[in-house]
Amino acid sequence: MKRILLIEDEKNLVRFIQLELEHELFEVQAAYDGKTGLELALQEEWDLILLDLMLPGLHGIEVCRRIRAAKKTPILMLTARDSVVDRVSGLDSGADDYMPKPFAIEELLARIRAIFRRTELERNDTHEKLSFQNITVDVDARIVYKDQQIVPLTKREFDLLVMFMKNHNLVLTRDMLLDQVWGYDSLVETNVVDVYVRYLRNKLGYNGETNLIHTIRGIGYVMR
Ligand code: CA
Repeated sequence: MKRILLIEDEKNLVRFIQLELEHELFEVQAAYDGKTGLELALQEEWDLILLDLMLPGLHGIEVCRRIRAAKKTPILMLTARDSVVDRVSGLDSGADDYMPKPFAIEELLARIRAIFRRTELERNDTHEKLSFQNITVDVDARIVYKDQQIVPLTKREFDLLVMFMKNHNLVLTRDMLLDQVWGYDSLVETNVVDVYVRYLRNKLGYNGETNLIHTIRGIGYVMR
């Protein structure tokens, strides 16, 4: 069941929207001022936040900005009718969409469904991606791109690159790399790390000029 947080101070409107949304089988919780709404938005997980602009305590724009600073929860803003300023500042503060008041409940429901469709689509691309400079790694698909071009890597080279990407700017010792990439009970010598770093540098085409993986003499390597 989708959970919706409704931040709105007009009690009659809250009651009306809440009944309609519950009828559509959404779970709805109401907050009647900006501060309480913000706290609930940050403390709990919501599928959608309906946010009024003119709120006691904390203005809707400010509530929106603070939610957005911490979370990606979709926000549908309830703005004053025909107020371009409200709509623009609403979207600027990170709202996904706005609904001018007064509105027909069918239109609100249509916008809510549109937002849920969009978030479903985005959710389907759940691949973990890492980026550093012009290198991007799709961790789940195990594909490496350099300037949008695919760089073919072996399993070890790939695992090694992911270690560097996840820990860029941190010096990694040969032992750490060996443990993480080859495994604790591996019997390989630590100099195998040097060999694979060389392979990786060659394949990423950074040999010489602009090297991404730097040698820290006597210790290990760092990507920066
Ligand atoms: Ca209001």
